[in-house]
Amino acid sequence: MLVGTTYLTLALGNIVQEMADVIVNAANSSLLGGGGVDGAIHRAGGPAILEECLAIRHRLGCCPTGEAVITTAGRLPARYVVHTVGPVWQGGRSGESELLRAAYWNSLTLAAEYGAATIAFPSISTGAYGYPIEKAAPIALGAARDFAQEYPSFREIRFVLFSERDLSAYRQALGALLPYPQAAPAGTGRSANPTAG
Ligand code: ADP
Repeated sequence: MLVGTTYLTLALGNIVQEMADVIVNAANSSLLGGGGVDGAIHRAGGPAILEECLAIRHRLGCCPTGEAVITTAGRLPARYVVHTVGPVWQGGRSGESELLRAAYWNSLTLAAEYGAATIAFPSISTGAYGYPIEKAAPIALGAARDFAQEYPSFREIRFVLFSERDLSAYRQALGALLPYPQAAPAGTGRSANPTAG
């Protein structure tokens, strides 16, 4: 989907292999590494990333849920890694959706500040943190769409899904995403997708 000048795209793959200015890590607030995406990024990127995370931790303390910090990318093909902390799923009534959106939004803001034109996200919170992917996907894509609508920073915001099942949840959410008026055929306005939203 094209929003303003930004393409929102989906891909099946491993985030550590992505060619993008920024890849995003589904970190935890300790910034000390963990399993899943976090473990894969530190393993493939080498020790420089963890050293920078430790320095940030020393300076600023832990990274609160919904916020993001940035390091270089060590041996990875990306230029930077943005480390963001998604919420742990607790049933949906503990502000999880706002925190998940904040994790995406703050990652995009930070990457844009560093001049990134391309950014690749994994599906934050939907692994060890237990966020149901059918609920998380529209939040992830909605945050990207809204950011792209507001700021022309990115040429591409890519979501890199680790399984066919995850990819199909994101495909469904992308299909249901309400297009902005400029993306709709002339004259149809907001009726372009009456069932979405
Ligand atoms: P969280 O703790 O935020 O839930 P996880 O790393 O446990 O983060 O998982 C987030 C999502 O990323 C899950 O859907 C998981 O299947 C997926 N994932 C795990 N490893 C990778 C990888 N190397 N590249 C892309 N996605 C991955």
